[in-house]
Amino acid sequence: MKNSLEETKFILGKYRLSANKKLGQNFLIDDDVIQNIIESSDIQKEDLVIEIGPGLGTLTSKLLEYAGKVVAIELDKNMIQILNDRFKLYDNFILLNNDVLKVNIHELIKNNIEKLSKVKVVANLPYYITTPIIMKLLEEKLGIDSITVMVQKEVGDRITAKPGSKLSGAITYSVDYYAEAEEVVFVDKYSFIPVPEVDSEVIKLKIRKKPKVDVKNEEIFFKVIKASFMQRRKTLINGLSNSGIVKDKEKIKKIIESLGLDVDIRGEKLTTEQFATLANLLDCENKSVNV
Ligand code: SAM
Repeated sequence: MKNSLEETKFILGKYRLSANKKLGQNFLIDDDVIQNIIESSDIQKEDLVIEIGPGLGTLTSKLLEYAGKVVAIELDKNMIQILNDRFKLYDNFILLNNDVLKVNIHELIKNNIEKLSKVKVVANLPYYITTPIIMKLLEEKLGIDSITVMVQKEVGDRITAKPGSKLSGAITYSVDYYAEAEEVVFVDKYSFIPVPEVDSEVIKLKIRKKPKVDVKNEEIFFKVIKASFMQRRKTLINGLSNSGIVKDKEKIKKIIESLGLDVDIRGEKLTTEQFATLANLLDCENKSVNV
């Protein structure tokens, strides 16, 4: 049996292809990392696995061994031909040639869940759209169990940062609202061909049964988080007043103080609970102004 490096070179040679940089194609060639992804995603025969960007099918072939069914979404037509040739004999494999951001994942799950019990997303993501993919999977409230994905190390560090720590950013809080995030393993750039410029890591998001905090208006909650991190060096009060949620700076100041926080505090010092309370109070203020 070929290892993933030999197999990747063989397939690229056979189909006379090279990686398409625009589509974020960096093929995973480290068998230990692949095994680690399989183990940490805890794939079982009762699981429906959604794989985003299967590429040449290196991870896919392992997923097919362990899962009940795999639905893979791939944008690149060249990859589709390879995947169809490679997995045509599998009756638990469905391949969609589409942009993952345009796929109706609710429908996809409804049409494929059959007798399977859990839905798990597993992928080596195209890095140029990491955040939109993760946020789509979370915001659409798909009832999925977990998301185990390879991402750029810096992005993974932000996603798994402790809210309120130096590394936390808007994505930290947005993800924390929906899921418990953890770093699984560091993956150096030589685990891929072509070798990318950045190192990577595998992260796992365990989706919460219900959001971490009670929020009256989710739209305002996410707007507040976004506004607080628009310019990282700005204080929370400046970020919020620029956002226009509540225009009067004095009112924002009073709300921040009512939470027992310093007026000059920066967004990254807040906990997710404090962002929720802040958003709820700003929402109330906003409504009272607009009645
Ligand atoms: N899974 C393979 C592996 O681990 O070797 C390939 C991973 S590569 C980092 C990302 C894959 O995502 C590529 O196959 C690329 O063509 C695909 N891709 C890029 N943009 C996409 C999109 N919008 N929707 C679906 N797949 C996409």
